[in-house]
Amino acid sequence: KKIIITIDGWSSCGKSTLAKQLAKALNYLYVDSGAMYRAITLYFLRNHIDWTDKKEVHNALKDISLEFIYNPKSERSEIYLNEENVEYVIRDMVVAEKVSDVAAIKEVREYAVKQQQKMGKNRGIVMDGRDIGTVVFPDAELKIFMTADNAVRVERRFQELYEKNPNITIEEVKNNLELRDYIDSHREVSPLHQAEDAIVLDNTNLTEKEQFHKALKLAHK
Ligand code: C5P
Repeated sequence: KKIIITIDGWSSCGKSTLAKQLAKALNYLYVDSGAMYRAITLYFLRNHIDWTDKKEVHNALKDISLEFIYNPKSERSEIYLNEENVEYVIRDMVVAEKVSDVAAIKEVREYAVKQQQKMGKNRGIVMDGRDIGTVVFPDAELKIFMTADNAVRVERRFQELYEKNPNITIEEVKNNLELRDYIDSHREVSPLHQAEDAIVLDNTNLTEKEQFHKALKLAHK
């Protein structure tokens, strides 16, 4: 049985959906690493931190505390930024537009990775992100790399965001996904790429259920 399961891949290919289902089925901890980068970005935006300034970033990180607390209602752990539940605000476009820039900062990544590694000590864990199988848990027993056709990813994310914000356009969503994928895969520190020993899961033509059963089989192998 696999103890550490990593799920990496492009934006909006359903990583968190799968990670959540796997964690539930295996009774493991689920950690959404992207939520950490989003929460840090939210803090920087709210406090007008100039993140091109190393010193400002360094000091700001000292004032940030991140925590995941399980919410039985949503059946998932939700992220808290300095004791405030920010699970939903961090999904805003305002954050999405800046998060890849913030996530490219070396010190921000060191801060997040250290905490992520701690969460995986002595327990089953499913973590999704961009560098989980390559950097955070290079020795993970099961590494999944998810991908899906661009148009499918845009449509899925659009539907998700449209429910909360009917003013959002397909164009906006498409541009944001493309920009984030570009920055995430071209940054200097821990760029998004497939780990050599990762198993690719393309879910363009898979239902959620089919994808889940495929992954669960891999977890039990
Ligand atoms: O997973 P999600 O789309 O919420 O992640 C938001 C952003 O956080 C990504 O576009 C990426 O810039 C950053 N991220 C990262 N490394 C991770 C997880 C997320 O750089 N492990």
